[in-house]
Amino acid sequence: MQFDDQGDLDTSQVDDRRGIPGGKVAIGGGAVGLIAVLFAVVLGVDPQLLGLSSGSGSVSSPGVRTAGEAQQACKTGADANKRQDCRIVAVTNSLQDFWRTELPRRTNIAYRSAETVLFTGQVSTACGPATSAVGPFYCPGDRKAYVDLGFFNELSSRFGAKGGPFAESYVVAHEYGHHIQNLTGAMQKAAGDRQGANSGSVRLELQADCYAGVWAHHATTTPQPSTGRPLIASLTDQDIAQGLDAAAAVGDDRIQQQATGRINPEAWTHGSAEQRKAWFTTGYRSGDLAQCDTFSAARP
Ligand SMILES: [Zn+2]
Repeated sequence: MQFDDQGDLDTSQVDDRRGIPGGKVAIGGGAVGLIAVLFAVVLGVDPQLLGLSSGSGSVSSPGVRTAGEAQQACKTGADANKRQDCRIVAVTNSLQDFWRTELPRRTNIAYRSAETVLFTGQVSTACGPATSAVGPFYCPGDRKAYVDLGFFNELSSRFGAKGGPFAESYVVAHEYGHHIQNLTGAMQKAAGDRQGANSGSVRLELQADCYAGVWAHHATTTPQPSTGRPLIASLTDQDIAQGLDAAAAVGDDRIQQQATGRINPEAWTHGSAEQRKAWFTTGYRSGDLAQCDTFSAARP
């Protein structure tokens, strides 16, 4: 994965709250939100937040970071080639450049900007306070994708993924897939059907994986408005393999097998490793969001 060294990074799309201890937890209502999140962790069911996986655990954030550091450090594609946080800025920029054009072109739905929030430990959101333990997630109430970069270490150490820059990009693209679903109304379709191999939740999560693949298909041909060149200069087969490997690692069957030694499709919320890889691949091969209709199939 290579970024255009001369590409522009737009850090206004990323809110870097790292180094703010505990975030700003809202007073009143906060406790209720926190309980909801704790339920999400214990039961693997996500009542409000749309996470990447049903897994949970503690995340240790690498190094001590300062709030707003990305704004200081991330200026060009060359920075994204060197630093993980700048890479997340660049991927966020690429995702929004793509969907801003593609969504209205294909659906007549206007794109509305989202934001990526980098945090450590705990964060306050419109969906209530959340901790890193829930993994990366999207909150429809404030249209923000929340990422503790410590999760990417966990992706390898705990979920057994190979990791790498495009594994991380896939995670961010999956959360922006949820943002697209928030704009199209697909998110509402899945409401209240939270568990099971054919549930609305699984269909929603697999569609987010498919949308991540659609973006990946177009990532190296989506021009940046400011330069006229794609911010992502190259993606190799090895990069795509990293994304598929990460998608499989957060499959419900893999997580269940690891946690309990048994696989129980009735408790699935995100889909199996094979399903997650298959839907990412459908999006990646076709580049067509209409192919991501996980809601029509009898089995997603
Ligand atoms: Zn998700």
